[in-house]
Amino acid sequence: MARVSRSRNRTSALAAATLLTVLLSACAGGSPEESPSPTPSASPTQSTPTPSPTETEEPTPSPTEEPAPEYDIDSADSLTVVVNKARPLQPADYVPETVASSVYSVNGQPLRPEANEALAQMDADVTAATGSGFVLCSGYRSYDYQVELYSGYVNGYGQEAADATSARAGHSEHQLGLAADIMGEGQGCSLSEAYAQTASGQWVSEHAWEYGFILRYPDGSQPIVGYSYEPWHWRYIGVDIAQDMQEQGITTLEEYFGLDAAPDYL
Ligand SMILES: [Zn+2]
Repeated sequence: MARVSRSRNRTSALAAATLLTVLLSACAGGSPEESPSPTPSASPTQSTPTPSPTETEEPTPSPTEEPAPEYDIDSADSLTVVVNKARPLQPADYVPETVASSVYSVNGQPLRPEANEALAQMDADVTAATGSGFVLCSGYRSYDYQVELYSGYVNGYGQEAADATSARAGHSEHQLGLAADIMGEGQGCSLSEAYAQTASGQWVSEHAWEYGFILRYPDGSQPIVGYSYEPWHWRYIGVDIAQDMQEQGITTLEEYFGLDAAPDYL
């Protein structure tokens, strides 16, 4: 590109110089004061016919469709793995490499490094923009911890209610270390819509995709994703996919990757 426009300029400069020579020789016998004025206007007209740079970019409209098949949505350690009620982690007791959360982690739970870095940047930016950040209420949770958590929900609320809000062990995005449950500073961790309704939470809702996060369980998506609305549960999927989903208006990973809806366990 740069080379194209550079040689183009040289061509027009050359043409202008030639024109100038012609004009000068033409005006050689006339008044020399008038000769310089037509030259500046001559070069812009010569450099304006530049439709070809756009032509060189035109033959590449396909990349929006091409990358999707490159994503690994099956391996547990892939940043783009899709886990739901129909797609368990493989192996079920997978343990990711994690780092301590840079954002204050209420339970001390860590995150995958990529998710941690993106979350920390988002927290810094939302704090700068709105004066208020968030805390991490849940990050990485082990298989065994998820067993405990899920059975606690079943004992407390019954299996149907538990399955609407809590993943069975081996099916949780939290076991990937790529999911972050967040609430506003000072709001505690009884997960609710409270944070999403604040200016800080709204900023996160609008900008999370820029950091590679998507709201994994959007309002009304339970027939597809299998869980009720969770305005606090952000899944790190990477900026490329998050941005693509944003631009295409696609809100679930199942729809984005053309996967079957996963309302229930198989
Ligand atoms: Zn969660």
